[in-house]
Order: sequence, then C-alpha cells, then structure tokens
Amino acid sequence: MFLISDLCEMLESYLEHDQVKEVYNAYLFGAEAHKGQHRLSGEPYIYHPIAVAQILAEQRMDHKTIIAAILHDVIEDTPTIKENISEMFGEDIAELVDGVSKLTQIQFETKAEQQAENIRKMMLAMTRDIRVILIKLADRLHNMRTLGHMRPDKKRRIARETLDIYVPIASRLGMNTLRVELEELGFKSMYPMRYAVLSEALKKARGNRKEIVSKIETAIKRRLFQEDLIGDVIGREKHLYSIYEKIKTRVSSLSEVFDVYAFRIVVDTVDGCYRTLGVVHNLYKPVPGKFKDYIAIPKTNGYQSLHTVLFGPYGVPIEVQIRTREMHTVAENGIAAHWRYKTGDAVGSTDHVRAREWLRNILEMQKSAGDSLEFIENLKIDLFPDEIYVFTPKGKIMEMPRGATAVDFAYAVHTDIGNSCVAVKIDRRLAPLRTPLWNGQHVEIITAPNARPNPAWLNFVITAKARSNIRHFLKNIQHDEAVNLGQRLMDKALAVFGTEFKDIPKRRMNKLLKQYGFKKPEELLADVGLGSRMAQLVARALVPEETAMTESSAGEPGSPTLTIKGTEGMLVNFAKCCHPIPGDSIVGFLSSGRGIVVHHDTCKNVGDFRKHPEKWIDVQWEEEIKGEFQVALRVDVSNQRGSLATIAASIADKGANIENVEMEEREGKYSTMNFILSVRDRQHLAQIIRHIHANRKVMRIARK
Ligand code: MN
Repeated sequence: MFLISDLCEMLESYLEHDQVKEVYNAYLFGAEAHKGQHRLSGEPYIYHPIAVAQILAEQRMDHKTIIAAILHDVIEDTPTIKENISEMFGEDIAELVDGVSKLTQIQFETKAEQQAENIRKMMLAMTRDIRVILIKLADRLHNMRTLGHMRPDKKRRIARETLDIYVPIASRLGMNTLRVELEELGFKSMYPMRYAVLSEALKKARGNRKEIVSKIETAIKRRLFQEDLIGDVIGREKHLYSIYEKIKTRVSSLSEVFDVYAFRIVVDTVDGCYRTLGVVHNLYKPVPGKFKDYIAIPKTNGYQSLHTVLFGPYGVPIEVQIRTREMHTVAENGIAAHWRYKTGDAVGSTDHVRAREWLRNILEMQKSAGDSLEFIENLKIDLFPDEIYVFTPKGKIMEMPRGATAVDFAYAVHTDIGNSCVAVKIDRRLAPLRTPLWNGQHVEIITAPNARPNPAWLNFVITAKARSNIRHFLKNIQHDEAVNLGQRLMDKALAVFGTEFKDIPKRRMNKLLKQYGFKKPEELLADVGLGSRMAQLVARALVPEETAMTESSAGEPGSPTLTIKGTEGMLVNFAKCCHPIPGDSIVGFLSSGRGIVVHHDTCKNVGDFRKHPEKWIDVQWEEEIKGEFQVALRVDVSNQRGSLATIAASIADKGANIENVEMEEREGKYSTMNFILSVRDRQHLAQIIRHIHANRKVMRIARK
C-alpha cells in the first residue's frame, strides 16, 4: 500500500519543501472530499489518486501536476466544483483538474479504427495543457493495474479502450515505459488465455536463452572496457504484447521472435555512442542494411538511438540499441522527460514554457534533420489544433475546421441535410444556425422537407463544401421555382397575421413594389424565393400597421436610414439589454408589437428566445451606416476626486455623447460608473475605450 507519507518522502527528493507541504494539503482536501467513498476492492477511494500521483512522481513531474493528480476525481465524483479548487490551490491546478474531468466525460465508442483515431485527436485537441493528458494516462495506468475486481465484460471493454485510445497516445508522446505497461495489462485483460500461453512459452525460452545472453553480454562488456568506454549493457526481452502482435500479423513465427537477442548499451556522450557502434561492429559482423541512425535523424516523437543488428555466436541475430543517458530518459518517458522538475531552473521559467520548449526542441530536431514534414503537421494538429471535434446524435465524431458553424456541420454530414436544415440543437438546446461550434459539443441538425438553403448563410459558413453547395443550389433554382417557393414562404409568413399573399390590397402591394423597385408581384416573390429578402420582413411591410404593430408605442420610430439589411419600411429597435452597435454580431427577434428587435448575439436574453426559434431571424448590418447607437459601458475607477470629470472629458474628446451616467460606490476605494454613450460603431467605441484606458485611475472597462 502506497501512502501519502511515502509519496511525500518521494517528493522531498526533488521538490521544494513548501511544494511538498502544498501536496499534503491537497491530500487533506481530497481525502475529505472522497470521504466515505470506496473502490471496488474495498479500499478507501483516496488510495487511487495517491497512486496516480505516485506514478507521476516517479517521472519527477512538477508539484502542480502532482496536486492535480491527487484531486483528479473530485470534480467528477464529489460535490466539489472547479471554483473550490482554484480558491484553495490556484487557477492552474483548477484548470488541470477540470481538463482531466472533461476527458473523463467523453463517451468512447471504439468500434471503427477511424473513430479511434478521431478520439485520440480530440483528446489531444481538447487539451491546452499537455499535463492533463499525462495525468489521464497515469489515471488509466492505475485503473488497469487494479482491474481485478471488475466484471469480465467491463474489464474487456476498458482493456479495449486502453489499447485503442491510450496506448497510441502514449506512443505518440514517446512515453514507452508507460505504453508497454498499458499494453501488457490491456493484453492480459483482453485475452487472458493467450496471455497465459505466451507467457509460459516466454518463460521456457528464457531458460534456454540464459546461457547465450550472458555470453554475449560478457563479450560486449569486455570489449568496451578494453576501448576505455564506460557504458551499461542491458539484455532486453520482448514484451508479450509485441510478440503477440508480431505473430498475429504473421510477421514472424514464435520461434523467430524468441531467437532474437536484444541488448541496449547506455553511454555518456553522443560521441561515445558512435564509438560504441564501432566496437560492436568490430566484435560481431553487422547485418547489412539494418543499421539506423536515429541520433542524426530522430523519430517523430523525439526518440533518439543508434540501432544495429549483428551476427552473433552460432549465427543468432543480435539487435543492439546504443544511446546516451539523456536519450534513454526521453526514450522511456517521452514528453514527460521534458516536463521533469529541474532544480535550478531560471526564475520565471514556468511549466508552460517547459512544454513549449519540448515542442520547439523536437521541431528543431526535425528541421535540422530535414525530415518529416508530416510530423510537424501532425504535432500542430494535435497540440495546437485548427480543428474541432463534435459529436453527431449517433455519437459519431466529426472533424470540422475551427470556426465552423452549424450549417457547415449540416453540409459535412450530408448535402441533403445541409440543403434542408432549419434549426440546430447544440448540447440539446436550440441555437441559431450561424452558431460557431466548439470541441466536444453534441450537434443535432433539424431539417424540414420543404426547407431551402438561405443565401444569408453564405455570410457565415466557412467550409468549401457548404459554400459551394449553397451556391450550386441558388444557381440552379429556376425562376418559376423561385416564385413558387416565394409564394409558399410569403403565405406562411402572412398566416401569422391571418392573411394570404393574394388577399393583400392592391394599393398596399403597389406601394411596396414601388419602394423595392419591382414591377410585378412575381418579381418580389422570386426575390423572396431566392432568399434575397426575408419573407417575415416583407410580410410585416405588407400588412396594415395596426395589425403588425399593435403596441407601437413601445418603441421609438425606426432609424430614418437603413441599418439592417432588408428591413425597408419596418420598425427596427435595438435591444436595451445589450445595446448592439454596428460591427457587433447580432440576431433579430420578431416581436409582436415592436417590429424587429436586434440583440447582440451573446445577449443573455437571447437564451430565452431559444424557445421560439420561429421568431428569430438572421440579420445583418447594412454596409454603410450613418447614425448613432447607444452602448452601455461600465468603468471601474479608483475613488479620486474629479475622476468622473476626467473620464467624461476623455469620452467627449473622441466625439461621443454621454446620454446617461450612474455611479455606485464599491468598498470605499473604488467606484463604478455606468455610462450610456452614443457611438457610431465598434471602431468608434474601441477608440473611446483606449482613450479612457490611458487614464491611470481606471481599473477596468467593460461593455454591458
Ligand atoms: Mn481516477
């Protein structure tokens, strides 16, 4: 049993005493949170996180990783929330624990190979801080070590997941020791019989090989000594899982696998590596074409070594790896080796910097070796992703470019889905089709049989597939068809007011046609059918004012110049809750009394409108807007005499009007000013904010 005292003792060997004390505090916190919980084995739950921390301490990981490891299950399994952790242990550790919890929540479905690859990519992509992955791997390793108490079917499922998902991640990160153990444990739980048979065979072979192994070892050691080279010579044995894989894929037979003798020689310097190579080539003849120089050209995960194969005594093949101690650490621990806690680090060198360093080192190695563009591409995708991964309703993972919207997703699923999508549920809540998607979201597209692509989508889709499909559709729609579609859309929109297109009085129709510059109603219908005009807005313009705007007193008259595309003759209001200004991304809401109300699309009230998707419309600012728009600004200042006057002057300097200001005092030292300003657009507002910021009394400025 590994106890907290053992862990602390281990940590004292490489961490500062204060850091170890913090680890102990985390233990007290974790033990309290998990109090009363037990593992299947009956042990108190806290033993598990301690064991996970131990695995990471063996790799000499920094204290934040160790603390996060101790707390890694508290968000998932106890009432503790992220904020509790950040209060106690700081933002970094809270982020790490939260990251691990998020990975834990991913539902795995590892049937198809493609799917497994996507999950691996997604796990890496979701992780800003690679330490999250290291903790998750250690967590998995300990769970694999303690699988014994589980039901056989559950065991197999976890083993499968380990082999499909975690082993390749460990391998990509170069963490060989951990990878091998995961493989062996996974193999054992997946195929207990095969494991038993192979391990019996290996035991036998080991007996037979003993003599020849020690003979070769002695020969190499003696020769190194004669040449004044200092190095460790270690006999290596193949692992069961790799033997199994070799036999399964018929690369070699069992006896072929056992007939290979493998050694590793670890020396002090790179120069020593090449000299050692000379020595062994001199001792036994090398097999032609088998020498590989991974020191000059490292493997994609940073692995470095010299590999060669020799003709041994009695003609047995001997595989030899030669490397320095440093290369050996990297070969065993991969990325974790670069994450090791180092005493005497320069002040200000943070963990994050160290991870970047690892990346840079590898990139540089690759560059100097002039090799493997593909690797650099892979690394970029995995660690600094331009891609996001989202789930379909069936749990399939789709890869999308960053910034992709629900419409892009719909087209990625199928052209027909894109062409007929009308709404989207993101994480089971309705959202506008233009909503950009995020990693790990669950996306469900809602389609309708008569729905058509909307040209307004072209303004926000980012994938070539969506764009070309929407264009293609619009190009091919025939005039008659457009009129037809326009008619249907108009009748639907007018039904809200209890009327139909053909019942609109002639006088009113002609007035609108003239306003839009059309000669015949068909032209208007075609325009609606092609999506250039929104049916709801045209309908508003066609019905008598008193029907459309029963409570017109609620709003101010619409702006004399057009601010929102396609709203000719409509009452347009800007929501008072979020004060959108030109340049903001916006969404329109059709209100029964106030025409169309424009909200900032992040406005908290927009959430309430989700319940009425039929009432929102995608709206856009006109290209050139003249006029002034109200915006709410909150400015926090330190309480000094005259600060309001100074800030008011800054605002006036930039040509904006102050419509209203309210002050609240906060804790004596600071006060908050809530301004309503009139500005031209976002750019104008940005200038004003910069100008206010230049004032030393200002602590914080935020839009409301
Ligand atoms: Mn765990």
